[in-house]
Amino acid sequence: MTSSQAACLRAALQVGYHLLDRGGSALIAVEHTIRVLERSGLFNAGRGAYLQLDGVRRMDASIMEGDSLRAGAVASIEGVVHPISAARYVMEVTEHVLLVGPMATKFAQHFKLEPQKRPAPQLVLSYDLVLKRMRTTRNRHGTVGAVALDQSGTVAAGASTGGIDRMLPGRVGDTPIIGCGVYADNETGAVSMTGWGESIMRLAVAKEICDRLRRGSTPGQVVRVVFQRLVKKVHGSAGALVLTPQGRFTIVHVTPHMAAGWWDGKGEPTVKDRFQ
Ligand code: ASP
Repeated sequence: MTSSQAACLRAALQVGYHLLDRGGSALIAVEHTIRVLERSGLFNAGRGAYLQLDGVRRMDASIMEGDSLRAGAVASIEGVVHPISAARYVMEVTEHVLLVGPMATKFAQHFKLEPQKRPAPQLVLSYDLVLKRMRTTRNRHGTVGAVALDQSGTVAAGASTGGIDRMLPGRVGDTPIIGCGVYADNETGAVSMTGWGESIMRLAVAKEICDRLRRGSTPGQVVRVVFQRLVKKVHGSAGALVLTPQGRFTIVHVTPHMAAGWWDGKGEPTVKDRFQ
């Protein structure tokens, strides 16, 4: 983690905490924390989102709150700085959960979400060449996410990403899939995931963590059990932020690093790139 990334994480945690401190909802705190990270261009989300192999930046995001189990998500959205806000609009103003592709972009434009300049079109690659490049995939990550608990006892979770390095055009990962990249339920907890989306989806990891929290184990125990299975069954890699309505939380990853932090309003926010 660079020093600019650490400073940005601290700033994002402070924005989220101050909103909660003033009585704001967990949902708004999660959205605004993620907006700071999307805007920075320092992470794989919003301004810093990876390009797909055809040179187009298609982004995914989702948000969920644990009281009513309302959720919103966008996949393959283009040309906006804040996919997380597009996801919140899907949740707030439609009866749907997920909008995809050009129609997600159109929806965001309709609500005048801040536009993001699109990268200049690349040389047109043959599809054979695109496929060849995909096979050399390296798993660099950097998705951003947040979980929060507000004064009413409601939890929320969100995540926003540009996907993985060298992905096929049109590829969608776990981030906008409710139950995979995020889940939030006041009866169990809020979960936001990062990592190799294809493995996370196959085990519906966020919902799996919530289901196991219901059985009474601590967040740390639960995530470790789920991650053991993720690694063993599907050779997965992931990191999770988990927060329960009782205020218990954990950050666990089976990737070498995960830049993350927390803040309860005392002293300085804690930010590290290795947990366990
Ligand atoms: N989970 C994201 C995806 O697979 C990538 C990441 O977390 O960095 O799209």
